[in-house]
Amino acid sequence: MVGVSGACNVADEQENALDEVSGAQQKGYVAYDDPCSGIYLPDQPPFKKKIALTFDDGPNLEKTPKVVQILRAHSIPATFFVVGHRIDKGADLIRELDSDPLFSLANHSYSHSNFREINTDGRKKQLIDTTKLLLNLNVDTKFFRFPFGSADCEIRDEVSALGYMPVGWHIDSGDWCFEMGGGSCTRAVYGQYMQREYIPKEYETSMSDWIIHQAEQLGGGIVLMHDTLSVTLTYLEPLINGLQARGFEFIAINSEDVFPQLNEAVATAAPTTPIVQPTPSPSQEEQCIYVSEYVTSSLNVRASPVSGAVVGRLNKGDTAHYLAKSSTNDGWHQIRTLGGAAGWVYDGGAEQWITIGACR
Ligand SMILES: [Zn+2]
Repeated sequence: MVGVSGACNVADEQENALDEVSGAQQKGYVAYDDPCSGIYLPDQPPFKKKIALTFDDGPNLEKTPKVVQILRAHSIPATFFVVGHRIDKGADLIRELDSDPLFSLANHSYSHSNFREINTDGRKKQLIDTTKLLLNLNVDTKFFRFPFGSADCEIRDEVSALGYMPVGWHIDSGDWCFEMGGGSCTRAVYGQYMQREYIPKEYETSMSDWIIHQAEQLGGGIVLMHDTLSVTLTYLEPLINGLQARGFEFIAINSEDVFPQLNEAVATAAPTTPIVQPTPSPSQEEQCIYVSEYVTSSLNVRASPVSGAVVGRLNKGDTAHYLAKSSTNDGWHQIRTLGGAAGWVYDGGAEQWITIGACR
């Protein structure tokens, strides 16, 4: 039965994957130079022939490992923008990606909702639920990509105020269209979803040529692809070879040299709005937090919950003085470290990573 349900899951994932990306284009397309759009990036071309690959909508149990295999074979860095509802099933995959210095992970919402179609609370939940799931796997990121690239000024501000950095793209692979067209993206296919002309005729039959063409126009940049689609696997190797043959070099989105504004914004991002407010209680101030053996290396101490700046670390076996208990069950606790700094730690869900008790 395990095998059968696994196969069903993979089939479901494939269908969902295409719905997500094609729907994305239909609902969310906005101009690259509109700073309020979800696809906007503060760093503009040229990019010194540096290119960064990003893959959205995974982890996909079938295709992500194959994408990873190709990237590793060529030592190509990449960032995977994962959706929260796939994290549980893909936990091993996420751990593997996180442990490889070539790769990084980022937040792509919980259920791939269009942020212009849900309210403030819904958006916050989409962000934070995924952050928590990633933190459970010790993955810590401020990078966030809007599903469908869909946002407006207010929504961008809201997301930034929560401490996340929106990451758009400079180059759209159009992979969803190539996938739907069985390898070529014709106007007939594209026109079902988009109003304007898109891929010039000479690139309709080659996704890699289309990406390379855009890369040459811009001198590089951040490329949007999906590790949930078959065309990605078909075109990835020709794309890598083609770009390298033309002198492009692959880098990661956290390259401060190539994307200084994106990374400056991350470094100076406002601490996240606390998702829980501490409720000080004198009787609790005497208590201590002990870091449990379940912690593999150390816990980050943050200026505020979820993705506030890291202000310290607690190692396995460390003790921290407890300042106040969080008022909800979100799992964040305000502490004072041995050095005297105050901050927040996450308990890993159900106080797995820390225990609270009388100071010994
Ligand atoms: Zn997506």
